[in-house]
Amino acid sequence: MSDTEIVNLVPTSTGTVRTVCSSCDRLSRPRRANAHGQPHWADWPRGWSEAPYPRDFVHADGSLGSTFTCPRCARLRAERQAAGITPLLEPSPRRIARIAELRRER
Ligand SMILES: [Zn+2]
Repeated sequence: MSDTEIVNLVPTSTGTVRTVCSSCDRLSRPRRANAHGQPHWADWPRGWSEAPYPRDFVHADGSLGSTFTCPRCARLRAERQAAGITPLLEPSPRRIARIAELRRER
């Protein structure tokens, strides 16, 4: 695993999982995981939203599956949407760097 690898979910040593915000890299608190290693619906991180993707879908940043947005970025997205500002959200600087790196490798 390289330093630059981007993930959307971080499993913990105790079997819970943390979601990663795709716009600011913030982590949720550890949550109970379901059989697919995602937060269980009954223990969903409060205020976090999910953009659902198939588990084997590879994003431009190399990460897999569903992506997540933290409450702070979700609020920013809603404010920008209300004001007609685009883009609503952008990938985090780490993700933008990784996307550029992967494009150079291809
Ligand atoms: Zn965020």
